[in-house]
Amino acid sequence: MADNVNALSFFYGNITREEAEDYLRQAGMSNGLYLLRQSRNYLGGFALSVSYSGRCYHYTIEKAPNETYAIAGGKSHRIPVDVIDYHSQEMDGLVCLLKKPCNRPKNMQPKVGPFEDLKEKLIREYVKQTWNLQGAALEQAIISQRPQLEKLIATTAHEKMPWFHGTIAREDSESRLQNGSRSSGKFLIRQRDLNGSYALCLLHEGQVMHYRIDRDRTGKLSIPDGKKFDTLWQLVEHYSYKPDGLLRVLTDPCPRPDGEIGLIGRPPLPRDHPGITSAFQNAAGGILSRLKTVPIPGRKKSHGSRHNTTDLNPYETRVPNNQAGIREAMPMDTEVYESPYADPDELRSSTVNRDQLYLEDGELGSGNFGTVMKGIYKMKKTEKPVAVKILKNDDNNPSVREEMLREANVMQQLDNPYIVRMIGICEAENLMLVMELAELGPLNKFLQKNKQTTIKNITELAHQVSMGMKYLEEHNFVHRDLAARNVLLVTQHYAKISDFGLSKAVAEEQNYYKAKGHGKWPVKWYAPECINYFKFSSKSDVWSFGVLMWEAYSYGQKPYKGMKGNDVMQMIESGKRMDTPVNCPIEMYDLMRTCWTYKAAERPGFSVVEPRLRDYYYDISQ
Ligand code: ATP
Repeated sequence: MADNVNALSFFYGNITREEAEDYLRQAGMSNGLYLLRQSRNYLGGFALSVSYSGRCYHYTIEKAPNETYAIAGGKSHRIPVDVIDYHSQEMDGLVCLLKKPCNRPKNMQPKVGPFEDLKEKLIREYVKQTWNLQGAALEQAIISQRPQLEKLIATTAHEKMPWFHGTIAREDSESRLQNGSRSSGKFLIRQRDLNGSYALCLLHEGQVMHYRIDRDRTGKLSIPDGKKFDTLWQLVEHYSYKPDGLLRVLTDPCPRPDGEIGLIGRPPLPRDHPGITSAFQNAAGGILSRLKTVPIPGRKKSHGSRHNTTDLNPYETRVPNNQAGIREAMPMDTEVYESPYADPDELRSSTVNRDQLYLEDGELGSGNFGTVMKGIYKMKKTEKPVAVKILKNDDNNPSVREEMLREANVMQQLDNPYIVRMIGICEAENLMLVMELAELGPLNKFLQKNKQTTIKNITELAHQVSMGMKYLEEHNFVHRDLAARNVLLVTQHYAKISDFGLSKAVAEEQNYYKAKGHGKWPVKWYAPECINYFKFSSKSDVWSFGVLMWEAYSYGQKPYKGMKGNDVMQMIESGKRMDTPVNCPIEMYDLMRTCWTYKAAERPGFSVVEPRLRDYYYDISQ
């Protein structure tokens, strides 16, 4: 994984080209001596420095959008170290074969770039400001979306830098630079227009020089004929250590006048920008606001705040992003990330009045209990699209009503972004359970129909389910019916656990639920102790989670296909487990096998499973 480069003895982190040459010189400059360092101009990229015939050669290893690594024009590889291995065997354009790693001096750690230090603070502030989140909702957003947020922050971090002055006029930039100290090397950057064009304004011997910074078609930034960069702060870092065509290096950032802090300088996006709402304009302008979108796949026109790309994948929900045009929607962009009752102006109530509820045509699904319909729930301030589980009128079967009320009772106690929340119960012509809408439906069906879904995407969703399950474990609830069919998708990048019909609250001290007898059980998802002793705990949910992972990485195939429940039980007792799904990463199959540890006491809980999934997800998303 790209992240593991830190463990490589010849990886130096964020050092300059000159520093790399010094290290190679100190190590003897033999032919084929090499080291790896972080690219200082391409996000997520690396640079390879090699010595040959007494000279140093530097190659950029770029990261392609499909997450592969290659030296420009060369063969692509899955991870940076594969590029090194390959060029140890094949020159393929390099000056020589890579022969010997130039290892870091003892006790030296890879150098951390200036952005790394800032990152944590920026991410937190960005999430707080953009989605107005706090507390657990804020933490959960950061945990589940860290890779996406890091990328987003990297491209907007310059707004926090003292040298970034936003959209000021050329004359203003000159008076700001001439004000106070007038040392050569004093500089600032101003925004020229909405197309990502900036100007670097540099004071040199009392005169202000203005260098245009343009963005090319691939989004890279450069001064005319200069080196290209992914971000403005990388450009500033580069010209701070060498002039490289400028009259001199940048030394003193010209501070912004007092009071201009935070997300300044983002002019509002044009009103006719596709898919932009006033809410987003506010967010883009730095004013606290929320962008909440409700994705409705397959429809060309829908809520104004959503921008659905019509190319490639109809389920990919996009939202406008000031810097990079559009980006994939994150869970926090949707209406169902926070509880509808998180807004203190909306009174929490477990009952929904019939006159606040509108049912739409078209069924979302059905079961023994009746049907699930789409609807609109009129709240005080907003109208929310909802899913309504409608109990069929069946006087012969009063227990179905009790079951539904039990399910509602459990759901009412849960509040987590990765769990379908109950909005309320409505007693009218039928008994109705009003829930958050997860319109893309069950995970297994979605994956059966969308085989192009990437492993990274599946891992992102599996990780979200593990976050929801960790919450249940912490709150002493057992789900008892965890399976891919009971994970519903809000978007292709947002999963929620549903169907709490079998769920139980368990006593903290006992931590398991003992069923009175065998019921109509999903045996293929059940741990041995459920079937043998009717004992259900978070540990047995972990077993089910392993089966759910198997379903997800098999793109919605049925587990233990063609086998009867009894045969499955015998197979498990004999120590056998399902084989790995085709193309499933070994790390994820290992985790499934761990979830299928026979003895509950030796099986990890979700407090262990979730961080393992998280680490792997971050690794493949670097
Ligand atoms: P039972 O409660 O008898 O186990 P079931 O598991 O089939 O039945 P649900 O999973 O609650 O019942 O709902 C049936 C179907 O309705 C789901 O598979 C899904 O397609 C749809 N559905 C349920 N809840 C929602 C929701 N919140 N948002 C969107 N669709 C939903």
